[in-house]
Amino acid sequence: MKITFAKPGLPSTGVVVVSAGTGSKLSASAVKLDKKSGGALSRAIRASNFEGKKGQSLNVMALAGTKLDEVMIVGLGKAGDITELEMQHLGGLIYAGTKQAKKGSVTVAVDEISDAKMTAAGIATEIAYGAQLRSYRFDKYKTKQKAVDKPSIKFLTLQCAGFANARKRYAALGKIADGVFMTRDLVSEPGNVIYPDTLAKQAKTLEKLGVKVQVLGEAQMKKLGMGALLGVGQGSARESKLVVMQWNGGPKGKGAGKGNAAQPIAFVGKGVTFDTGGISLKPRDGLDILKIDMGGSGAVIGLMKALAGRKAQVNVVGVIGCVENMPDGNAQRPGDIVTSMSGQTIEVIDTDAEGRLVLADALHYTNQRFKPKFMVNLATLTGAIMVALAHHNAGLFSNNDQLAERLTQAGLEVDETLWRMPLGEAYDKMIDSKIADMKNLAGRLGGSITAAQFLQRHVDNTPWAHIDISGIWAETDTPTVPEGATGFGVRLLDRLVKNHYES
Ligand code: MN
Ligand code: ZN
Repeated sequence: MKITFAKPGLPSTGVVVVSAGTGSKLSASAVKLDKKSGGALSRAIRASNFEGKKGQSLNVMALAGTKLDEVMIVGLGKAGDITELEMQHLGGLIYAGTKQAKKGSVTVAVDEISDAKMTAAGIATEIAYGAQLRSYRFDKYKTKQKAVDKPSIKFLTLQCAGFANARKRYAALGKIADGVFMTRDLVSEPGNVIYPDTLAKQAKTLEKLGVKVQVLGEAQMKKLGMGALLGVGQGSARESKLVVMQWNGGPKGKGAGKGNAAQPIAFVGKGVTFDTGGISLKPRDGLDILKIDMGGSGAVIGLMKALAGRKAQVNVVGVIGCVENMPDGNAQRPGDIVTSMSGQTIEVIDTDAEGRLVLADALHYTNQRFKPKFMVNLATLTGAIMVALAHHNAGLFSNNDQLAERLTQAGLEVDETLWRMPLGEAYDKMIDSKIADMKNLAGRLGGSITAAQFLQRHVDNTPWAHIDISGIWAETDTPTVPEGATGFGVRLLDRLVKNHYES
C-alpha cells in the first residue's frame, strides 16, 4: 500500500473517508458531502447506530448525488479522544474498513478539529501510520490465494492542511513500520527457513542501510568461552551464531566506556530459532509455535532497521544469540555443567530453560566488549510471564529504576506496555546450585523472576533491563496489530531511544 499526502479537496470517485465527532457532529468535509448528497449522508447516519464515538464507523455505498463508490464515516469521539495513539487506532480501523475497495484507492479527508490538541497534519500522519501497521500480512506461502481474498487497497491518500509537513513527519514513522514488518516477517517464518545462519543473513541485509554487521561462528565463540550459549546449540545440525550489529549515528569517538559521548546503548536478543526443549522435550501439542522463540532477536533486528532507516542520532549495538535447541545424540543433557563466558558455572537442570543460557553469554559479551550505557534484552523467556500478565503486558525486570521508568513510559506512548516485576535477593538465592555456581531452573514458582535473576548474574553493575516478551503472538486482530506476529519491541525501543538517547 502506497501512502501519500495531498492538499484538501474531495475526490469525485473512489472511496472517501470523512469523520464526525460525538453526537454525530460532522466535520467540514463531511458537511460538504452531506450537502452534495442532498442530506443523504446525515439520513444514513440517523438510520444507523453511529454516534460519532471513537471506534465507531459507518460505510455508505454509492452515496446519492455523488459518483463515489463508498463513503466511510468514522467517529473521532470527543476532542480529548484525539491523541496520537487513538489516531493510529483510527488508521487501523480505516484500513480494515476499506481494504476491499474495488478500485484500490482510498482518500481520507482530515479536517482541523477545534479544541483538539493535534493539528490536521498531525492527525493525518498518525492515521497513515496506524493504517500501515494494520496492513501487514504474511501470505507469501499461500500460492492459491484468490485476488478476492486479498486486500485490494493499493493507494491511501491523506488530505489535510499542511500536507507537506505531514509527509515529512511520516517519513520517519514509515521507517519504523519497515522495522516492525521485518520483525513480523522473521517471527512468522518457520524453523526450516529461519535458523541461526539465515537469521544472521537477514541481519546482514541491514548493511545496505549503513549498519555494521559481524557474525561469529562456533569456533570464535568457543575461543571466547561461550560455553552456556554453545551448549544449547550442540544438539542441532545448524551452526550457532552470534550476530553483532552496530549503528553509529551518534557522536564519533572511542565508543566504549563511561562518560564518553560516543558510548553506545545496547540491545540484546534471544534467538532460539526453534525450541523443542532439547532432551527435556516439550509436549507435542502446540510445538509448532516454538518457531517464535527467536522473537527477541527478531525485534532487535527490526529495531536496528528502524533506527538506521530513520538515521537516528545515536550509537547503538544490537547483539543476538542464535541457536536451535534440538534433541540429538550430541545434545546437552539435563544435569550437565557448563561454564559461561563470565567464568561462572551453570548446572543445566532443564534443557528447555535454554534462553537464559544463550543470553548469559550474549549479555556478558556485549557488556565486556562495548561497555554500553545500558543493556536491554528482549526474550521469549518464560511461559510463566503469560500466566502472570496474559498478552496485555510484557514483563519488565531491571536493576535500574530510571531505565525501568523510561521503558515503561515509552511503552505507554506506543501501545507496547510493560509491567515491572520484582527482583531481589530471596529470588536470587533460588537459583543457587548445590554443585555449581548456579542452576538454570529453580522450579515453577516465580518462574519468570528466577529466569531474570539468572540473567542479572551476567550483567555486572551495568544498568540493564530484561523484557520477557513470550506473548508476542496475537490470536486476534487489534487496531494496529493484525493477528500473528506482533513485532512487539520495535516501536517501544525506538521510542525509548527517541525520548532520551538521541543527540
Ligand atoms: Mn525452552
Ligand atoms: Zn525458549
